[in-house]
Amino acid sequence: MVVTFAEEEVDRVAEGVVAEGDLPLLGQDPHATYRLGIMGGTFDPIHNGHLVAAEQALGDLGLDVVVFMPAGRPAFKLDKNVSSGEDRDTMTLLATSDNPHFLASRFEVDREGVTYTADTLELMRRMYPDNVELYFITGADAIADIVHWRDADRVASCARLVGATRPGYDLDHARANIAASPFAFDVTYLEVPALAISSSYLRDRVRAGQSLRYLTPEPVSGYIQKHGLYGVRHGRYES
Ligand code: NAP
Repeated sequence: MVVTFAEEEVDRVAEGVVAEGDLPLLGQDPHATYRLGIMGGTFDPIHNGHLVAAEQALGDLGLDVVVFMPAGRPAFKLDKNVSSGEDRDTMTLLATSDNPHFLASRFEVDREGVTYTADTLELMRRMYPDNVELYFITGADAIADIVHWRDADRVASCARLVGATRPGYDLDHARANIAASPFAFDVTYLEVPALAISSSYLRDRVRAGQSLRYLTPEPVSGYIQKHGLYGVRHGRYES
């Protein structure tokens, strides 16, 4: 399928602005191949580990752009206390705004109901022409479970997968699950030292009144402070 644009959109196309909502325009030259990274996560909150992982994926896999896509209503977290999509989206936007190769997208946050990755990837596969390859990047823990996700076969057929891990993480479980699956998952694993940082570590620090300096961009910690996320104790938390 080829994405076509209305005449008045041609100038916007030339400027490389968005094609659909806040998703990037890619695939204009039918003779070229484009690689679109989709960074999937709850991002509650986003941190430097996520940013370094995306930058590494960009370089190692030759991606043209990485779209950070906070999960809308994450399927596996319906009973968990997750910050609102608005808060997670705003923090993602703040964290990614200074990198010309990164974008933040509301594609899932704006979708009604539970957001399944298979639906996200299938919609995107339909929106982009065939010369745009999709790479879904997430944590290796999530990749290990992917075989149990709803419509895992659709996930496998729409995108290549990238599992980001901290050094020393045991990939045997993920590899065994993928190998035993009847679906043709194409997975690349990336070791990212900065993934020693985790969102739960940041939330714990905020609760304990400790600084997030050097763990997440300053605008994100400022946002957490201002909006009282994660049980910020006023007067005790140093952004
Ligand atoms: P999670 O289970 O909260 O995270 C598992 C591990 O992976 C955590 O250590 C997490 O660290 C890390 N991680 C998560 N996203 C990452 C990323 N983009 N880069 C590097 N590390 C990452 O996973 P989740 O956030 O709920 O889900 C991850 C993605 O999988 C989301 O896009 C979600 O929608 C999708 N998913 C889909 C289904 C489904 O369709 N049925 C089910 C589950 C997940 P941090 O906590 O520090 O991020």
